Order: sequence, then structure tokens, then C-alpha cells
Amino acid sequence: MTAGRFDAVIAGGGLSGLSLAGHLAAGGWADRRVLVIDQAEPGPSASCWAFWSARPGLLDSAVSRSFRQVAVHAGGTSLVLPLRPYRYRVVRRPDLRRAVAGLLAGCPGFAVRRGRVQRVGDGTEVAEVVVDGERIHTRWVFDSVSPARCDEPADARLAFTGWEVRCDRPTFDPHTPVLFDFRTPQPDGARFVYLLPDGEYRALVELTEFVPRHARPPAPAQRCAALARYLRDVVGTATYTIARTESAVLPLRAHPPSRTGCHILRTGARAGLVKASTGYAYQRIQRDSAAIAGSLARYGHPFDIPGSRRRYRLLDAVLLAVLDRRPAQLERAFARLFTTNPAARVLRFLDEDSNLRDELALIRGLPPAPYLRAATRLVLPSGRPLVQRR
Ligand SMILES: Cc1cc2nc3c(=O)[nH]c(=O)nc-3n(C[C@H](O)[C@H](O)[C@H](O)COP(=O)(O)OP(=O)(O)OC[C@H]3O[C@@H](n4cnc5c(N)ncnc54)[C@H](O)[C@@H]3O)c2cc1C
Repeated sequence: MTAGRFDAVIAGGGLSGLSLAGHLAAGGWADRRVLVIDQAEPGPSASCWAFWSARPGLLDSAVSRSFRQVAVHAGGTSLVLPLRPYRYRVVRRPDLRRAVAGLLAGCPGFAVRRGRVQRVGDGTEVAEVVVDGERIHTRWVFDSVSPARCDEPADARLAFTGWEVRCDRPTFDPHTPVLFDFRTPQPDGARFVYLLPDGEYRALVELTEFVPRHARPPAPAQRCAALARYLRDVVGTATYTIARTESAVLPLRAHPPSRTGCHILRTGARAGLVKASTGYAYQRIQRDSAAIAGSLARYGHPFDIPGSRRRYRLLDAVLLAVLDRRPAQLERAFARLFTTNPAARVLRFLDEDSNLRDELALIRGLPPAPYLRAATRLVLPSGRPLVQRR
């Protein structure tokens, strides 16, 4: 099955690998030879991805749930926010696989193979991918599995522990995900609960914590105790079963690591596509996949892709620098952003799709002192610049 040379090997068939395969199939590469390789056992990753969008996307057939509103609980205020023109959507991993398989059905040269990528090597003419001892040669490798090439420690980390819980009586509002709920003890970091309902009886309840650069993520037992307490005291249920758990620690970087080689392009979380101030990557990965497919179709190489813009990286860096010193600012910042602005403006900004007027309105709502101090520290020539010119 792997004989001969491939136009592209996609190392890792998770969110970024599958999304890229779909975009290549739909974007002028349907007649090429493309191999997607994914290990049999999924790593510590998401079972579903949530994101907000206002426009149609290539993989919309994978969306299983879509919400018009979200709730936030911060700074002593509880709000239900209409999202128009956005919808908050959910894609489950099996549905993503199915949607991409549908796109690949008309592409006889595309294949998905189970296997473990052991090495990805660059060369001047071709790249080589070693899968379960077999060497595969290819013009391009899209790599979401090799560790990031980065000497600097992450600016912060985002620690998740999620439980998919099932209750035997109606417990959750099926129409309203909770984007963040700070009504949980705040030990050292900045901690909130995220709740994604799947009907009235089931929900993913996730404890999310920004961990400052030099701090340690809380122990799993502490996180589980915090989740149990949230379910008992805030949701009001002590009787539930935990159908599934997920747990991960994501490095957050305002300045993404280098992602290109001669014939290799890193993709997904390891290419720094997780947005540093939110932990979301789904929409960034879709835009990145579309740009890679467009660059290949137009120029025959995948490198004509936009990076995230400098001012958004600076704003992410400022937020992370403030959180590093004063984690409690996260709750204050989110509370102010959502109480003084329409949700759509905040989401546009977090999606890096805002204009200067949006940004001035958002910045005006924040307490100025810690942000100005952090911004000054970041741009002063004596300090290590967190944000560098690309
Ligand atoms: C628990 C969790 C929840 C998240 N929730 C959201 C969310 O709701 N919304 C959002 O926008 N972002 C979310 N993210 C952030 C981000 O979208 C995900 O991390 C996303 O899955 C990143 O895509 P990826 O392709 O880089 O990695 P993955 O989706 O993890 O894909 C990598 C794939 O490579 C495979 N693999 C790994 N090593 C090898 C190997 N050696 N050989 C072969 N295959 C290998 C893995 O099995 C996996 O299938 C979440 C992250 C985590 C950890």
C-alpha cells in the first residue's frame, strides 16, 4: 500500500491531519497520492472540539451540536449571552473522521493507514517518514506528531481535566454551554469550569486552569476533587456516573515555534496553532489547512500561508504576562470583557478577526494598570521580547 513515492504524507490523523486531508481533497489535489498515518491508540487529545463560527466551513457536516447562546459566570455576575451572528458548534472525533472520509471517497490516491510514526527526516530532494520500521518517501510531510522545536519554556500552560457525566434526572440546560464559570475555588492559578451539555442528562464538565510559567499544574487528584465539588455545589447533583475522562496540559506560547523545513511543515498544536489566550485551535487549524491547500494548488509548495498577526500575538503575550504575575486577573478580565461588550465583538477579537474600533472598545473595558505595566515590560529593550518580528 505504501509502495512508491507520495506527494504528501500527513503524520498524525487527529484534528489537523484530518482537516488538512479534507482540504487537500477539496482544494485541487484530488488526483494526488496522499497518505495519512495515525497510531492505533489515540493520544491524550480531545474527543470533541468546540468552536464558534459565523461562516460555513468545509467540514460542517461533522458538526453534531450547535448553540445560539452561551453562559458565563465571572466576577459575581452570571450572564446568558446571545452569540448572533456566531454559533457555538461541536465536532466529535468520529464525525470528523466520517466527514473527511466522505471528501476522500472521490480521491483514489488518498489513503489512511494505522501506524506509528517513528521519525520524520528532511532532505534536499524529498522527505522521509519512518512508520513501524518502514521508510516512506514523499515530496511533503505535514507533521502534527513530532515535538515542537523550541528551546524556550512555554509562556504558560493550560491544564484540563474533563468528565463526561451522565445523570439519571434532567440536570443540564441543553441549549446553553457554559463558556467559563469561576465559581470554583481559586488556589494559585486562574481556574474555571467549562460545561458542554449533550441534552439534559449528559455533559462534558471540564476544569480548566491557566498555570503560570514557573508553577506546577495541580495534581490530578486535586483537579478531580474540584470537579466533584463543582458538580455538587454549583450544578447541584451528587449522583452521576463518569462515562469518560480526559486530561491534558497544553503549552501556551504567544510566539509560536518555527514550523517549516525544506519539505516539512508542522501543523496543529505542535506548530503553535493553539491560541495562547483561549486554548482554542479548531478554527485556526481550519484556516491553516485551507491556506496550505491553496498554497500547494497555486505555487506547488505549502509555505505561502499567513502567520498570526503581530498585534494579536502582542495582546496574547500581554495577557499571559499579566496572568503570570496575577492569575486572578483572568476572572476580572473575562468579566469586564463580557459585561461591557456584545459577545460577538469579544468572539471576533478572540478569533483574530476584529478591527481597531472593536479592539479599542475592548481595551477600554479592562483595568489599565496591570496591562500597561505588562505591555511596557514586553516592549522595553532590556527584557527578552516575548513577541518577535517574524
Ligand atoms: C483535552 C483537550 C480538549 C481540547 N478541546 C478543544 C476545543 O474544544 N476546541 C478547540 O478549538 N481546541 C481544543 N483543544 C486544542 C486543540 O484543538 C487540540 O489539541 C487539537 O486536537 C490539536 O490538533 P492536532 O492535530 O495538533 O492534535 P491531535 O488532534 O491530538 O492529533 C494528533 C494525532 O496524532 C496521533 N499521533 C501522535 N503521535 C503519533 C505517532 N508517533 N504516530 C502516529 N500517530 C501519532 C494521535 O493519535 C492523534 O490522532 C483541546 C485540546 C485538548 C488536549
